[in-house]
This record gives sequence, C-alpha cells and structure tokens, in this order.
Amino acid sequence: MIEVKNLVKKYGTHLAVDHLDFQLEPGRIYGFLGPNGAGKSTTMNIMTGYLGATEGAVVIDGHDILREPEEAKKHIGYLPELPPLYMDMTVLEYLEFAAELKEIPKKEREASVQKVMDITKLNDVQFRLIKNLSKGYRQRVGLAQAILGFPDIIILDEPTVGLDPKQIIEIRELIRELAKEHTVILSSHILAEVREVCDYIMIISRGKLVASDTPENLEHLMAGQNSLEIETKAEPERVRKILRSISGVDKIELERTEEATTYARIETGTAVSGENQDIREAIFLAFAEAGCPLLMLKASKASLEEVFMELTQGEEATADAGDL
Ligand code: ADP
Ligand code: MG
Repeated sequence: MIEVKNLVKKYGTHLAVDHLDFQLEPGRIYGFLGPNGAGKSTTMNIMTGYLGATEGAVVIDGHDILREPEEAKKHIGYLPELPPLYMDMTVLEYLEFAAELKEIPKKEREASVQKVMDITKLNDVQFRLIKNLSKGYRQRVGLAQAILGFPDIIILDEPTVGLDPKQIIEIRELIRELAKEHTVILSSHILAEVREVCDYIMIISRGKLVASDTPENLEHLMAGQNSLEIETKAEPERVRKILRSISGVDKIELERTEEATTYARIETGTAVSGENQDIREAIFLAFAEAGCPLLMLKASKASLEEVFMELTQGEEATADAGDL
C-alpha cells in the first residue's frame, strides 16, 4: 500500500504540490489526471524518492521513502517523464545494467531481463544501440526497465506521450496485463486515456487533489445533483405548465421528439434528492394528477468531460520546464 501524507512541494514561492493526502490500495490501476503543470510529475518524483518534498511523507508498504529509501524503492518500478536511458548502450546492455542496479540476484538476471524483453517486445532490437531506436522503442525500453524485477508497484509518468496510435494501444494492453498482478499508477493529461485504462481516477489541479473515484462514480458525482430528464406524450406547453406548478423547478428545456413525445431537461434549485424531499416524487405525482403518464424520469448524468472541465476550470495548459 502507498500512503501519501500531506505532501507539499514548493519551487521557490511556487506551490507545485499543495497538501496531497491519499492512500492507494494494491491491485488497482490508478490514473493521475490533470492538465500540464498540475503537479503530476512532481508528485511521482517525490513518491519514488527522486525528489524531496517540502513537507509531508510518502510511505511504501510500511517504508518511508526518505528514511528507508532502499527498502521502499524495492517495491517500486518507475518510468519517469524522461527515462534515464544510456544512449551508447545496447538495449540488452542497458537492461542488464538496470538489473544490477536493482540488485536482482546474479543468477536470476538473465531470465529476468529476457522476461521483460518478451513482455515489451524488445527481442528484435536487443543488440541495437538505444540512440538508434525510435521514440516508441525507447519508451518500451524505459517501460522494460520499470517492470524489471516485477516490483509490486509500477509508476508510469505519461507512458504514451509521443507514441503513435498503434504503439499507444500496445502500451495500454501491456498496462492492463501488468495490472493483473501489480498496482499501477500512471499519469496523463488525456481524459480518454485515463478513462480507458484506469479503474480509479485522481484528478489533480494546481497541485491539489480535486476528485478521486472510479470513472463511474465521478460521472455520478455531479450527476443529477441538480438536473433531471423526463419524457411524456403530452404537448410541450402542457409539460411546461405542469412543471411550473412544482416548487424547486428552475429551468426547463423542452424538445418534441420524432416519436411524438416531449423530452424535458429540468434544472432544480437544490439537489434532486435532498434529506426530506425528492423532487422526482413531486414531478411524478404532478404528472399523474394531470393524467399525463411519464414514459421516463431520471436524474441526468454529467459526462466525465464535464466533471473534468468543471474541476480543473481556469487552469491553463502550460508548456514550461516542468512538462517537457
Ligand atoms: P505535470 O507533470 O502535471 O505537468 P509538473 O509536476 O511537471 O506538472 O509541474 C508542476 C508545476 O511545477 C509547474 O508549474 C512547473 O512549471 C513547476 N515545476 C516543475 N519542475 C520545476 C522545477 N524543477 N523548478 C521550478 N518549477 C518547476
Ligand atoms: Mg508531467
């Protein structure tokens, strides 16, 4: 398990990580989602012990990353934003070197390196110099290095940046495969990617954790907090009149459908279902009394895009030193 306790990172006066506090359970794929400059890489660098925090602590499987770095790091494989590849080594040499650094016992090294090359499909280029590899292959080498030794926790900073669509699909499949036996944490500024791969999304905005939940629950989060949809055969003007008689109904949008029904989107001043009242009951009863059966009545769902936009509102995408 990973515990991130009240983490703060300041660069000068700039607060890049602003009191992050969360715990990650084993066996899930977590996605750090946030615009460029949100603080994802900084957080990952601190979690993996590459960067000191200004305040707070990170505990990996019971080991504080600063006080017991060797013990803590044994549990982590990390693909940083810019993987530290040695350009003049061949793929095989580099992975053997990485295995040594990771203190994988000598007699297991060869098999271990072979296994990650199989998984990341690097066999064909194992004798090539890293400097002669394409961006996609270099990314795979970085990934191979991260999963070498199969640590419990695999942390990947923007693993698909700069890859072509085919490579992206391959890397995503690989991540899903890894997640069967590992905890995977990846970062991305692309909502679609996180939604597709992760089973838990943590939205980071200006160094703060602004939401963390499953994609489904995030959609429900604002979902229907104050909007409803109904459908009935009654004419739009009739529907408007009935709705207007219900207290709590604020805004009404009506649409006549091709099936000769009226579809209404309703905004309510307060939550759809409060402690003592549920406006859905009032709507149901009002339409029943008016002799207009409802064909459909539901709290409407916000899309994940809407949730993301709402939560990271106003944050500019910046292309500064932090997100090279
Ligand atoms: P992300 O990975 O979400 O794009 P980063 O963690 O790279 O965000 O950056 C968070 C903020 O911290 C940005 O505003 C960035 O400019 C700033 N930052 C990152 N690294 C440094 C650094 N070494 N020195 C000064 N500011 C930095
Ligand atoms: Mg980054």
